[in-house]
Amino acid sequence: RIYLDWNATAPVLPEVRQAMVDALSGVHGNASSIHREGQAARAVVERARRAVAGAVGAPAQAVVLTAGATESNNQVLRQHARERADAYIVCTVVEHPSVLETVRALEKEGVRVAYWPVDRQGRLVEGWLDERLAEGATLVSVMWANNEIGNIYDVAAIGEKVRATGAIFHVDGTQALGRIPVDFGESHIDYMTLSFHKMGGPKGIGAIVTREGLKVAALLSGGHQERGRRPGTENVPAAAGLEAAARQLAADGESWQQALRQRREAFLAALNAEVQGFELRGDTEHQLLNTLNVAFDEVDGEDLLLAVDLEGISASSGSACTAGSLEPSHVILAMGFEAKAARRSVRLSFGPATPQEELARAARILGAVVKRLRTMPAL
Ligand code: PLP
Repeated sequence: RIYLDWNATAPVLPEVRQAMVDALSGVHGNASSIHREGQAARAVVERARRAVAGAVGAPAQAVVLTAGATESNNQVLRQHARERADAYIVCTVVEHPSVLETVRALEKEGVRVAYWPVDRQGRLVEGWLDERLAEGATLVSVMWANNEIGNIYDVAAIGEKVRATGAIFHVDGTQALGRIPVDFGESHIDYMTLSFHKMGGPKGIGAIVTREGLKVAALLSGGHQERGRRPGTENVPAAAGLEAAARQLAADGESWQQALRQRREAFLAALNAEVQGFELRGDTEHQLLNTLNVAFDEVDGEDLLLAVDLEGISASSGSACTAGSLEPSHVILAMGFEAKAARRSVRLSFGPATPQEELARAARILGAVVKRLRTMPAL
């Protein structure tokens, strides 16, 4: 099979799998226990923390381990709303549902919010944020890279503006890891939320990286793990996998980017050769190298995905969290496309380990399937 859904989740790296198996078979203690088994588990968790910190240019004490980016996003946003009577939260209209739905829920609870609009390429409307900051926005949430269209947002420039007003800047860095350089310290970020499973790490573990001096309040009540910031017994095998993923990122991140560039160029050339009539969506000038959001003329995205699945290709139409709902993507709708046009979007996302030959074959299959669907009456 040809797996083109890396933005939903990536295949686990061999080093990650090995580290998790070793931890599962060799480290059974509870990281909070004081005996030797407990200390061994604690060591795994602390190594993971240091590796995450090292991979994103932050000190180890800045990293709080969580159960993934969804939890991290909820924690940062809900903490802010809880602690600030004057909370005024701004997020982009193209955020992942774990941000967007959380902000909507807070809005229903009475928190003042605003949604940063985008243009037809998914670029943030210029000047809009300045007005919200002038109105007293207290937290701004912008993803580093979008999961559906791959747009990369200029978080360093946005962060500078936000910092100048004293508002809090939150960045969801989940899709950026392993694809573009991610430097926490250089980008005026207050809270960065992360998950490593889009680049070969384990699912179900993530992090909040925090600027020095800012607090992280627990979402749940219970134990004192993560210095009271994230109660619950630590997932030691996942932490072992997280450490391995973060180490691979630090070591190989640059070569992954080169591999992605080669693959993107070859894949685009093959698509142009094999398929007539398609449009690339998103900001193709500032886009993750591994992500193509493609709309094939006259072809419904779901019909295409079902047909190529039978031919051995796994891809999706957008966020895995909304896949299957038949609702068009909120991202493509926010870019101003009508529902029917939005439903034509197909997301093809790959990784540095995707064999080039598979991308060439995928282009041939897509060409043949698109041709066939165009001659068939709509389902
Ligand atoms: N943020 C973005 C941009 C994502 O693409 C995802 C993907 O699932 C998430 C957050 C949620 O991460 P997790 O699966 O770790 O909850």
